[in-house]
Formats: sequence, structure tokens, C-alpha cells
Amino acid sequence: MKLRKVTAATAAALVLALTATACGGDDGDGGSDSTGGESGGKKIKVGIKYDQPGIGLKSPDGKFSGFDVAVATYVAKELGYAEGDIEFIETPSAERENALSRGDVQFIAASYSINDEREKSVDFAGPYLLAHQDLLVKADSDIKSGTDLNGKKLCSVTGSTSAQNVKEKIAPKAQLQELGTYSECIEGLASGQVDALTTDDSILAGYAAQEQYKGQFKLAGLELSNENYGIGVKEGSDLKAKINTALEKMVSDGAWEQAVKDNFGDTYENEPAPKVGTVVPPKA
Ligand code: GLU
Repeated sequence: MKLRKVTAATAAALVLALTATACGGDDGDGGSDSTGGESGGKKIKVGIKYDQPGIGLKSPDGKFSGFDVAVATYVAKELGYAEGDIEFIETPSAERENALSRGDVQFIAASYSINDEREKSVDFAGPYLLAHQDLLVKADSDIKSGTDLNGKKLCSVTGSTSAQNVKEKIAPKAQLQELGTYSECIEGLASGQVDALTTDDSILAGYAAQEQYKGQFKLAGLELSNENYGIGVKEGSDLKAKINTALEKMVSDGAWEQAVKDNFGDTYENEPAPKVGTVVPPKA
């Protein structure tokens, strides 16, 4: 098993100053007409998470950071959009398929795992990161395995693979509380209302490294699933092929590795870059 470590140090965040710009209706294929910008007046709406440090975070000053933000920015540039032409929109876990189908966003980079169920309604480019479901517990907790969760209070997020896996496979007898976002769960863990929080190790490591939680939590290090992060697009969109080309370039020119260093630092020991088009199957 690959060792993962969470240190007290907070990951150096790649802070991208992005201008949120209002724009009109979209053309369903990567952009919408507006004025200004380096892409001939086109803007692009991109779905990310707003509350996952190291992955997708909107700071109080309005700036965006995280690995997904870096990947989305790189991809948008390859599609012809400068940073100032990107409008980031929050897409919580349960809203992602709807946001794509309605055309609210042109693509989503939001810790969004590729799976068969989701592929019924949206398409995925990638994968661009392999993460694994894990547990975050209090530093002195005796929870060490998935089955230890049975009978315990566990928090996860509606519409996530993590909540689904707990109910179906990992601990069907856990008292699962499903909230709208992981930041609500982490508050419950800190206050003792829940015994554990479950989602991807990439997300949990970011929370554990936050200044205000220093030393309070630990990851169980269980690799309970394979979570292949993909970039979601509307079903049938020709953006999928273009985004795949951009992701391949991001890996080959070193920008992917740099984004890993900038955003995970020593908080998260990531898997190597996945091969675009190759999804690691879920664990049995
Ligand atoms: N990667 C998992 C998923 O797509 C969990 C993280 C999330 O909810 O964004 O469901």
C-alpha cells in the first residue's frame, strides 16, 4: 500500500487572481459571447468546488486556488481562454450532472470521479488524478477500518461516491449523515457531532493540514476505493477530445507535476499522473 502522510505544514497554495465576469447565454460548446478578454471576446464558465483546500477553494478575498483550479485554468488556456476569461462557478457534488446538462457551465473540474452511473448523463475527459476514499478521524480515535464505522456517526456529502460506497459496501450499519458540502462535515467532526468524515484522501489531507485543525485529525490511510478524477462535459460535447489533448500536454510539459507541488506540497502523497483514457476500476 502506498504510504500517505499529512504533516502540520499547510500546502503552499497556487493563488490565481481570476476575474469573475458576468456573461450571457452559452453556446453549449465551450464559451459564450461577451466583450473583452484575450480570446476574441469569449468567456468560459467552469464548475469547481469552493470549499476544498488544495483542490478547489474560493478565499474570502475572492481568489481561487487548488489543484482542480490549476488544471481547469490550464485546460481553459488550451481551449483559447485567458485567466480573465474564466468564470468559476461553484458546483457542489449533487449538482454536477445538472449543471452540465442545463449548460450552466461548459466543463467541471471538481473532484469529480468518473463512474458508470454518471456516464449515463455526462461525458468525462481524463482522468487527471487518481485518489482513494479514506476516513478522517480525531487524532485520538480508535477507528482503524471501514467496518469500525458500523454503529458510528459518519458524515459525507449527498451525491458523492463516498456516501454511496459507505451505504453499499464499506459500512452499511454506520449512522450516515449526508450534508451538502464537506466543510459542513468537518465542522461536525471538530465539534464531536460525528465520529468520522469520509471522502477522497486528496480532499481530507487538505482539511487536516489547515491551520485551525493542526494536530486535531488523522487520516486512516485505508484506500477504500479508486477515484479517477475526470473533467465533466455535457453529453456528446466535442470538448471532451479537446480537453483530453490539453490534459496530455499538461502532463508532458511538466505543468501537471508543478500543479501537484504547488497545491499538495507535503500534505498529500499523490499517485503518479494517470494515463488519459485509462480508468482504474473500482475496488470490489
Ligand atoms: N470524488 C468523489 C465524487 O466525485 C468524492 C468527492 C466529491 O464529492 O466531490 O463523488
